[in-house]
Amino acid sequence: MRLYDTKARELIEVRPGKSGSVDIYCCGPTVYRFAHVGNMRTFLLGDLARRTLRAEGTSYRYIQNITDVGHLNDDVNIESGEDKILAQAKLERKDPFEIARFYEQTFHEDLEALNIEPADAYPKASDSIGLITDLIAQLIYIGAAYQGRDGSLYFAARSFKDYGAISHNSLDQLQAGHRFDTVSADVEPGKKFHADWALWKSASVNREMTWQTPWGVGFPGWHIECSAMSIHYFPQGISLHLGGIDLRFPHHENERAQSNTATNSEFVRQWVHGEHLLFDGKKMAKSSGNVLHIADLRTRGIDPLALRLLFLENHYRTQMNLTWESIQAAHTTLKRWRKKIASWPQDGVVDREIHHDIINHFSDDLDTAGAILLIRKIERDESIPEAKKRATLLAADALLGLELDHHDELTITHEVHELLIERESARQEHNWARSDQLRDLLLAQGIRVTDGPEGQSWEAL
Ligand code: AMP
Ligand code: ZN
Repeated sequence: MRLYDTKARELIEVRPGKSGSVDIYCCGPTVYRFAHVGNMRTFLLGDLARRTLRAEGTSYRYIQNITDVGHLNDDVNIESGEDKILAQAKLERKDPFEIARFYEQTFHEDLEALNIEPADAYPKASDSIGLITDLIAQLIYIGAAYQGRDGSLYFAARSFKDYGAISHNSLDQLQAGHRFDTVSADVEPGKKFHADWALWKSASVNREMTWQTPWGVGFPGWHIECSAMSIHYFPQGISLHLGGIDLRFPHHENERAQSNTATNSEFVRQWVHGEHLLFDGKKMAKSSGNVLHIADLRTRGIDPLALRLLFLENHYRTQMNLTWESIQAAHTTLKRWRKKIASWPQDGVVDREIHHDIINHFSDDLDTAGAILLIRKIERDESIPEAKKRATLLAADALLGLELDHHDELTITHEVHELLIERESARQEHNWARSDQLRDLLLAQGIRVTDGPEGQSWEAL
C-alpha cells in the first residue's frame, strides 16, 4: 500500500517497521462531547488502512489514544486556554472523569456504528501520567526541556533543529506569521522562547485532574501525551501516524520534536493526514455550530453505514462537503445493493481479477472512490452472472465494511416476487406498456418500483 506522506510530500510505500508489523498510531478523540461525523471521517482512515494491509497479507498493530486531560481550548496560548473536559464538566455540573468516561463510551459506539474496527488498545492520558513524567524527565536530562519561572515545564523548540518539517514551517516563519508573535511575556511568563510549548503545566492544588510530581502539582500538556503513549506501545518506532489535517501543526510538529529527541531517531516513518469534512460548505466544528452526529442520521432513519459509503466515495485527501441530499443518495444506493445481493443466487465464485482490482484501488493511496466506481460498474455489467457478482461484492465488503450481506427480511409475498420478476423481464423486452401495468399492480400491493440506470429497485410503502 502507498499513502501520501505529509512530510515528504509524496506517496510512500507503507512498510513494516523493526517490529515486523506495520505499527499505526492515530490521534484519538478528546472526550468532552459527542464525536461529530468529521472526527469519524478521520478515524475511518485507520480502519481503511488496516483492512487494506490485511487484504495484502501484511500484519499490523493499531493504537489510538483517548485524550481525557490536558487538551486546552487554546493550545498555543496555554495561559489563557481552558481544559476542554473541565469546561464541559462545569457546564454539565458533573465530575470531569465522569464526563470523560461517558464520551469515551459514546466514541466506541460511534466507531461500531461505522464498522470501524477496534484498536489493539485505547490508552488514556490520565492513566499514562507515569509514562508522561518519565518522558519529560528524560527530555530535561537531554537538555531539551526546562522548568519555567512559573513552575511549568517547557520544551525548548530551538533544541530541535528540524522543527517544522511536517507542516513546512520554520521557527522564523512561525514567529512572523503566527499568533506566537502576539503572545507577550506577561501572558506566558514561564517560557524562554515564543515557540516553546508546555509539557507539564503547574496548577493550583484546588484544580481538578492534577497530579503530584517532583516538579510540583500539575497536569500534562496535550502534545507530550501522544509521544509518551506511542513510544510506550511502539518502542521501535511508528510506521504510520494518522490524524486530521489540523493536527499537522502544532500537535504533530511538537510530538515529532519530543519523540525524535527522546529516542534519538526519526521516530515516525510516515505522517498521513485526512482532509476536513465540511457540512453545507463550512468546516464541521463545534465552534461553528454545524456539527452532525451519528445519532442525527439515525433520527432520520438513515443507516450510519450510508455515511461510510459516502466517505468511501470521496478521497481522504479531498475536503468533502456533506449535504443531506448526498447522505440520502448514499442510503438509497446502499439499500439497493443489499437488496440486489440478497436476491442474487448464492452459489457463485469470486471474480479474482475484479477482486484484485478493488484491492489495488485501496492500495493506491486509498483510492476508495475508484473502488466504488468499479463496484457500480459491476452492478450494471450484464455480462457478469449474478451469482458471481454477489460473491465478488461480498468479498470486496471485507475492505468496504458496508455489511452488504445485511438485508432486512424480505417481507414481500410470493405473488409480489413473481410480479417483480415479470416486470424486470418486460423492461428487458422493452415492453413498456406491460411494465407500466405491472408497476401499477405492484403499487396496489404497497410496493413502489423505481427505475434507475442500474435497473429496477423497489421499496415497501
Ligand atoms: P478532537 O476530538 O477535536 O481532538 O479531534 C479528533 C480528530 O478529528 C482529529 O484527528 C482531528 O484532526 C479530526 N477532525 C476534527 N474536525 C474534523 C473535520 N471537520 N473533518 C475531519 N476530521 C476532523
Ligand atoms: Zn496526538
